[in-house]
Amino acid sequence: MEKTGVVIEIKKGRIKDANLGMIACARAANREVYALILNDTAENFREILEAHGVHAMVEITTGGADHTPWNPEQHTRAIITAMEALHIKALLALTTPMGRELLPRIAAALDAPLVMDCIDVDLEKGLARTTLYSGKTIGTIQVTGSHELFGIRPNVIAPVPVKTKAKMISMPIDTPVSGKFKTVEILPGQSSQTDITEADIIISGGRAMQSKENFDLLFQCAHTMGAAVGASRVAVDMGWVPYTMQVGQTGEKVSPRVYIACGISGSIQHFAGMKMSGMIIAINTNAEAAMVSNCDYFIEGDLFEIVPLLTQRLTQKAK
Ligand SMILES: Cc1cc2nc3c(=O)[nH]c(=O)nc-3n(C[C@H](O)[C@H](O)[C@H](O)COP(=O)(O)OP(=O)(O)OC[C@H]3O[C@@H](n4cnc5c(N)ncnc54)[C@H](O)[C@@H]3O)c2cc1C
Repeated sequence: MEKTGVVIEIKKGRIKDANLGMIACARAANREVYALILNDTAENFREILEAHGVHAMVEITTGGADHTPWNPEQHTRAIITAMEALHIKALLALTTPMGRELLPRIAAALDAPLVMDCIDVDLEKGLARTTLYSGKTIGTIQVTGSHELFGIRPNVIAPVPVKTKAKMISMPIDTPVSGKFKTVEILPGQSSQTDITEADIIISGGRAMQSKENFDLLFQCAHTMGAAVGASRVAVDMGWVPYTMQVGQTGEKVSPRVYIACGISGSIQHFAGMKMSGMIIAINTNAEAAMVSNCDYFIEGDLFEIVPLLTQRLTQKAK
């Protein structure tokens, strides 16, 4: 049976939910799924990985004098070494900052085809579907090569629980690196909220928010429904919120179940990041805004009246 590797992302000691949809995608081809876990204790994740159909947990430990907690060059070489040792031909990782660092490097080193930001992959046929031209169209791309690499957009593929018994493979890999790249310092992000690429519900604000302080309205509302807060590029460029919250072509691509756009006009570049949302709700004073013609529900009005009202209703409902 052919093997497919999936690079598992772990945050604060837990496997990110988005990994589970990626595992379902790897399993769909009826292949053996090898979960590659970098510099962490694989046994900690046995229960969840076995509940989603993983056949092997590969614990890759990078070390040596060059070791730093995050070194894309070293981690790239370690993953390639593991792929070669285990005869893994196809590799999946999430299209997240980590996946965006690793996959292109691995593809270049292996001279392998890579499709990023896939919304679906058929491993048997080597076909990947991905959004193109700022999300205006969906392209189907055929890949062929000795290896095939796919970046999976977080949250677009639903997890499929399947019971398996996973074998444990421990791989200490002490790869020499060029030394051209060295992580000097890693600082924790300022935001304590859920990563927007993982959020089930996102409430986003645009230029109409007017200030950093006004974003508190969105954070309060988000809190009542376990949502994350996102933003348009204007809100980020104005310095009201950090770049990690930007949704769009040059920000994060998100696929929540519900996306609430507050005072966002709906530019092509913003749509490129949230078009795949399950349901889009627009709150806008302008019924002619592009966001309105592309949403599922439209609330016409001033966000400074509507958002507090929404927060109030949701708080009452929770009591
Ligand atoms: C190369 C490139 C890349 C880009 N990448 C991105 C990207 O990744 N993400 C992104 O978002 N943009 C991106 N942009 C910018 C993009 O083109 C738009 O300028 C931007 O998305 C507009 O942000 P906005 O909707 O917040 O502001 P505006 O377009 O100014 O819209 C504000 C909206 O708020 C409404 N409004 C005003 N007051 C209220 C109120 N009180 N209550 C409710 N509604 C109100 C208005 O009717 C309007 O619809 C990019 C642009 C370029 C050129």
